[in-house]
Amino acid sequence: MPKDQTEAIVLRSFHVGDQDKIVVFFSRNRGILKGIAKGARKFGNRFGSCLEPLSHIKVYFYEKESKDLVTVSQSDLLESFFEIQSDLDTAFTLRYFSELIEHSLPSRSEDDVLYRLLLQVLRALKKGKELILLTAYFELWFLKINGFFPNLKKCKRCGQKIDAGFLSSQRDGILCSVCSSQHNENINSDDNSLFAWIIKNPPTSEEERPFSKEQIRRARQVLKKMIVYHMESRPRFPDDLKKHFNI
Ligand SMILES: [Zn+2]
Repeated sequence: MPKDQTEAIVLRSFHVGDQDKIVVFFSRNRGILKGIAKGARKFGNRFGSCLEPLSHIKVYFYEKESKDLVTVSQSDLLESFFEIQSDLDTAFTLRYFSELIEHSLPSRSEDDVLYRLLLQVLRALKKGKELILLTAYFELWFLKINGFFPNLKKCKRCGQKIDAGFLSSQRDGILCSVCSSQHNENINSDDNSLFAWIIKNPPTSEEERPFSKEQIRRARQVLKKMIVYHMESRPRFPDDLKKHFNI
């Protein structure tokens, strides 16, 4: 069995047997990988805190062609994001991001842009940037990378340039008031300015951002509708996860 290595971010892990863990990694070169870390539950094991959710690590592993599961032999911690998860809202939001990534990528398909997005957002959170804005940031770019974020600057039907209108029923564009038959699910110009800001700026931007929490919350409703429409199963948003864990 040849030994392989990759940079990766741990999405989740769970116990198996008395001493081992199964770890789901988002690797830079190979996409989603599932591995068994033998002895990872033993006191003083060689993996240390590398296998905690969202740890950024270098992982060494073996694989057999016939098996879905790789065997993790060693890992080095590159960057820890453990401390930011002591805030529950951050912890649930990161769990939601991890689920989106795991459910959007076929196993073992690489996505360097999505990988860098997750890492940048984690670093911005560590620097103390605002959670709600980074959530919208991740959601918009997640949609964009997957080809699901439409042009919201002109009416999908008549082509007229607009800055506000109504989300199309297929969640693939904006309709002007003449073309929209239902006149609900409004997208306003504040939503559009926030989306434009996100597309233009890195998540760690120091630039003054003229958006209130309420505006961001509103714009997130549009992003969430697109995500729900395009994902095969409805993702568990941070509020759903809180309910699930009775918090
Ligand atoms: Zn129109």
